[in-house]
Amino acid sequence: TAWWHQVEPAPKDPILGVTEAFLADPSPNKVNVGVGAYRDDNGKPVVLECVREAERRIAGNLNMEYLPMGGSVKMVEETLKLAYGENSDLIKNKQIAAVQALSGTGACRLFADFQKRFSPDSQIYIPVPTWANHHNIWRDAHVPQEKFLYYHPASRGLDFVSMMDDIKNAPNGSFFLLHACAHNPTGVDPSEEQWREISHQFKVKGHFAFFDMAYQGFASGDPERDAKSIRIFLEDGHLIGCAQSYAKNMGLYGQRVGCLSVVCEDEKQAVAVKGQLQQLARPMYSNPPVHGALIVSTILGDPDLKNLWLKEVKDMADRIIGMRTALRENLEKLGSPLSWEHITKQIGMFCYSGMTPEQVDRLTKEYHIYMTRNGRISMAGVTTGNVGYLANAIHQVTK
Ligand code: PLP
Repeated sequence: TAWWHQVEPAPKDPILGVTEAFLADPSPNKVNVGVGAYRDDNGKPVVLECVREAERRIAGNLNMEYLPMGGSVKMVEETLKLAYGENSDLIKNKQIAAVQALSGTGACRLFADFQKRFSPDSQIYIPVPTWANHHNIWRDAHVPQEKFLYYHPASRGLDFVSMMDDIKNAPNGSFFLLHACAHNPTGVDPSEEQWREISHQFKVKGHFAFFDMAYQGFASGDPERDAKSIRIFLEDGHLIGCAQSYAKNMGLYGQRVGCLSVVCEDEKQAVAVKGQLQQLARPMYSNPPVHGALIVSTILGDPDLKNLWLKEVKDMADRIIGMRTALRENLEKLGSPLSWEHITKQIGMFCYSGMTPEQVDRLTKEYHIYMTRNGRISMAGVTTGNVGYLANAIHQVTK
């Protein structure tokens, strides 16, 4: 017998399992609002025009050499400008240690490994709820997890009071995972004023903020505006960590291109931290993939292509915002007595609908609508063609 004969099947990933079930359903009415990937108004995956153009420019000119361990220097440079600002002093002073990472997931994992290696007794405070994979990432990096309250089920908004209490009650110098914008799965973000209070309290407590920014541009349609949380922390002089991803905002899901950065006190420290991040990457994957990085640096390095990208991000965000309005209006027109205001108040790719797991099960069984049992609707899967059907089904199972 094989030495692995006692290995049990792993539990299904809750999100990828939804897609499997959707694909297996023969119903012509089926709707997939499970996975967090953008679709156009015909429900089709999108390749941005700026990406197509970058690919045309790259074609034939690309050699297949290894990138350096830290990845594409040009891509990283452009990526830092998005998070920290075009004219950031931190960039000018070379205070940021940054490496290309395997998209947002890889950036989070590299950070978690860095945290474990250099602060081995620390924990990470993670919002309730959060993207499920955050738990897996810090678990596999052997960093113990604590929770802080974030979402307020009754108002379907932010539980700011509890969040601030948890920040105050955490031991000084704790690590916190924050979603920079478009919180997944709730679509609930702190206001600018609330971010200021959070940043202030972090200062008082000496906490360290690690920002996961998987949706820059997807919340408001403007990447600059969506970086506000980070900029507020920087104004207050925090040394932060940041994971960036081009999966959603450039539609480069499968290219796995992203960036991990850590703000340091000076250039010398940044060089040391970068070297250590590379040391962590080397035995895992040696160096990151070249193609996606080249697409990104080609787009962001060319003013015309960058403008095209900004327009296309805004188009995606606007389509989602339009679908939020349509879904809410449809529910109200059907005479639903419940409040659906949160659909339009929440932002980003997801709507945390407040539906129970049982209601979600009915949506799937009776209406062939697929989503995670926590009631999260991926607004990116909602279209002019299915919004009426979706609204009616939601109305039927919630009345
Ligand atoms: N972080 C959050 C909050 C996410 O929602 C996601 C994707 O769903 C990611 C990170 C990472 O995505 P990727 O690894 O594809 O960049």
